[in-house]
Amino acid sequence: MAHSPLAGDLRARVRGKVIERDHREYDAARGVWNALIDRHPDVIVRCADTEDVVACVDAARRHRPIVSVRGGGHQVAGSAVCDDGLVIDLSRMSGVVVDPVARTARVQGGALWADVDAATQVHGLATPGGEISETGVGGLTLGGGLGLMQRTHGLSCDNVISMTIVTADGSVRTANADENPDLFWAARGAGRGLGVVTEFTFALHPLGPEVASAAFVHPAAEAATVFRAWREMALAAPVTIAPQFALWSVPPFPGLPSDLVGVPVVFALGTYIGDPADAGPVLEPFGELGRPILDLSGTSTWVETQSEFDDVLPAGGRYYWKSHFMDDLADETVDMIVENAARRPDSSSAVVVRTVGGAIDRIGVDESAFPHRGARFNVSIDAIWTDPALDEASIAWARELWSALRPASRGVYMNFAGFGEGEDAMWGLILGTHEERVERIRRAYDPDGVFDGAARP
Ligand SMILES: Cc1cc2nc3c(=O)[nH]c(=O)nc-3n(C[C@H](O)[C@H](O)[C@H](O)COP(=O)(O)OP(=O)(O)OC[C@H]3O[C@@H](n4cnc5c(N)ncnc54)[C@H](O)[C@@H]3O)c2cc1C
Repeated sequence: MAHSPLAGDLRARVRGKVIERDHREYDAARGVWNALIDRHPDVIVRCADTEDVVACVDAARRHRPIVSVRGGGHQVAGSAVCDDGLVIDLSRMSGVVVDPVARTARVQGGALWADVDAATQVHGLATPGGEISETGVGGLTLGGGLGLMQRTHGLSCDNVISMTIVTADGSVRTANADENPDLFWAARGAGRGLGVVTEFTFALHPLGPEVASAAFVHPAAEAATVFRAWREMALAAPVTIAPQFALWSVPPFPGLPSDLVGVPVVFALGTYIGDPADAGPVLEPFGELGRPILDLSGTSTWVETQSEFDDVLPAGGRYYWKSHFMDDLADETVDMIVENAARRPDSSSAVVVRTVGGAIDRIGVDESAFPHRGARFNVSIDAIWTDPALDEASIAWARELWSALRPASRGVYMNFAGFGEGEDAMWGLILGTHEERVERIRRAYDPDGVFDGAARP
């Protein structure tokens, strides 16, 4: 097959791999975590280093393909890959260098949270990441970053001290409080389409190796009662914990009774961010929410805790997730969620309610582009299935519940934003009053729209 001028140009400049449609690795390289996404880019460049990224951006300016940037490839909307364009793939740039004295970690733009946790835990340190270890640091952080540490130490983006970012003119820029502060502001919560972040520097906090978690499973028949009790507990919880409530079915976890697998239940979950010896009084209220059928509470390493759910959310499944931040969970909202959860088209689907606030609110709403500070909960509607015959029903279920909850919403989380459909309206919900300022900054660094294809959820 004749190679495109774009690919030819790139091959002459990059150290990493240039993959076109006829390459034997093409199908593996264009695939992302969500099997619903089936895009066919013209060229994928697996960058070896920042210079390769610069070469990609220079070539993009010359040839003007649609550009997408691939971190961990986990965004449900599949925004890591584009049709007929150029994918700047950072998956080979996954290094993590820890400075245990300064308590910082330099993390390359294509690293996964597993890479970060493994390296930082060697020194008894951690930074707020996501709840699945295979998720990319890049996309998660640039969209905000919710996780088990969020109420103690803030969002992932709140812990970024500095970034290295290749902007549309091919410059390698530092963005932090002193250099390019506008870029730094926008990249923390609205970081799509600003450029390619080749390195993040994160602040680290002492944690582990062991952490204590509460994990109680209640029958679905008790869902409304337990949910209300959980809500009161969550609202009163100290910042050392970010309580979660999941309306789900028993997943095929090793060690769980096999006759329970697939049975609709609710989970009340929380991990104490601190010394397990002090966790007792904080975790105790989880055991007082009703009459659980399973108590899976215990102590495990931080690395194990962060990867506990990896196997039940594998690459290759079918996924469609939407969400709302909320100020409250009124009784009607609780009932609506419970009713809709009972109608999940597939037992793998879930509604996950996360408690936010705490350290997230220590940062002023205008100090970064992330606009949802002050919210109390995030409600994530996670349609998860494997049978293509369930595509329509699963997506419809998530959309219907999302629409029903919209009157109680104060905004949408960029990282759980469906497929970004109804784009303009969604962008407003995602960025709120920051939308205009983000767009102004994007245009200042990318006047010709080189990264416009990478700017949406
Ligand atoms: C199983 C699973 C669990 C999740 N758990 C959580 C969670 O606990 N908390 C949470 O907040 N979110 C969570 N998410 C959502 C997650 O934050 C988003 O999917 C996020 O986009 C994933 O980042 P990624 O690098 O893997 O994404 P990708 O799909 O690679 O990229 C997503 C977007 O970010 C951009 N991007 C990625 N890296 C860079 C970079 N280095 N420079 C510039 N742009 C970049 C891409 O252009 C793309 O538009 C989860 C997602 C999945 C699939």
